[in-house]
Amino acid sequence: MRKLTILGATGSIGASTLKVVEQNPHTFEIVALAAGSNVAKMMQLCKKWRPRVAVMADIKAAGELRTMLKSEGIVTEVLAGEQGLCEAASLEDVDTVMAAIVGAAGLLPTMAAVKAGKRILLANKEALVMSGQLFIDAVRTHGAELLPVDSEHNAIFQCLPQSVQHQMGHCDLVGNGISKILLTGSGGPFRYTEPSILATVTPEQAIAHPNWSMGKKISVDSATMMNKGLEYIEAKWLFNADKSQLDVIIHPQSVIHSMVQYNDGSVLAQMGEPDMATPIACTMSYPDRVPAGVAPLDFTKVSELTFLAPDYTRYPCLKLAMDACYEGQHLTTTLNAANEIAVEAFLTNQIGFTDIARVNELTMSKVNAAQAAGSHFDLDGLIELDKMARIKAHEIVRECKV
Ligand code: NDP
Repeated sequence: MRKLTILGATGSIGASTLKVVEQNPHTFEIVALAAGSNVAKMMQLCKKWRPRVAVMADIKAAGELRTMLKSEGIVTEVLAGEQGLCEAASLEDVDTVMAAIVGAAGLLPTMAAVKAGKRILLANKEALVMSGQLFIDAVRTHGAELLPVDSEHNAIFQCLPQSVQHQMGHCDLVGNGISKILLTGSGGPFRYTEPSILATVTPEQAIAHPNWSMGKKISVDSATMMNKGLEYIEAKWLFNADKSQLDVIIHPQSVIHSMVQYNDGSVLAQMGEPDMATPIACTMSYPDRVPAGVAPLDFTKVSELTFLAPDYTRYPCLKLAMDACYEGQHLTTTLNAANEIAVEAFLTNQIGFTDIARVNELTMSKVNAAQAAGSHFDLDGLIELDKMARIKAHEIVRECKV
């Protein structure tokens, strides 16, 4: 039995993870479930899964959950706050941690799992974007195992030789005959929208992804293609890739989830239905395979597979992320923080869709100047930088509103 903690249990990845557990009740056991503030959803999950531990990051929510569980006679222990999240991520009897808290809030709990030497199923790309080398080094130092959940990175992982799969963060691409990693992306809901009307699109339109069903933040990131930018940074770290080894390709059908090109001209692609249960199941059972409850891909219904180069004028956030990636940790940490503030401001109708890129770029230029001197950060330094970037981004959001 693999024993699991799910960080972000009430979210979209959390639901897909539980779907895989449901398919394989004799292979996986839920020990701990953790979330932010959604008590009603967590209560439902506790009733169904009876975890030993449940965590709410929000202290008040934790209190409410404790009362509700008690009134139902459920003996789940409730932990609270960031400390509770870190505790659940490092429980002694847990071997596998699904890291699926959205945003920078996932960094410390994911790091706690790394430091406890767990198998980390990494969905929370923002943690790696924020901390890069520090994260990769911690995985090696603490003997943790890092497996990518993001569908593109999981596809790439599946197309790599097994020896390279065991070297996440330290892959020797050239030594293994790999010439390029081809990161595919659908282009989101606005890939054919007239650029002049992008400024007026609504949050509802932005979160209506044509192929994938996901949480709100990543759905907006997919519409701006910031998600692909964050994934580009994530891929750089996971696969130890340099600029010449990493390309982004738009593939509107989302049938191919990414590819690896070898120096003999071969290209290996991973395909499937756009359902996160597939990459999640792959990481949960690695190196074995288990049923994921996903329909097999019906090739007779896949009419065509098309590919095109990204248009950076339509997707300025993608370019910002790709450039930041080679300028230093301070810029990717800043970009990640700015983007979280900008997306939240867009979702709450404070700024327009095209202002997201503006907030990101202006925040980067302000923090860049202040931080240019320092290129090495420890965890506390990165968290400080994240806070500073958020303050600047809030200021810029206020200016955008005027
Ligand atoms: P959702 O918005 O659906 O879920 C987010 C989860 O994080 C919820 O459980 C939420 O709890 C929890 N959470 C939010 N804030 C906090 C906090 N401060 N402390 C603790 N928990 C918190 O997001 P997704 O499931 O879509 O995405 C999760 C992560 O996975 C993201 O990093 C995303 O980029 C990545 N990912 C998602 C994919 C997808 O298909 N959805 C694909 C690939 C990667 P609550 O409900 O209580 O607020």
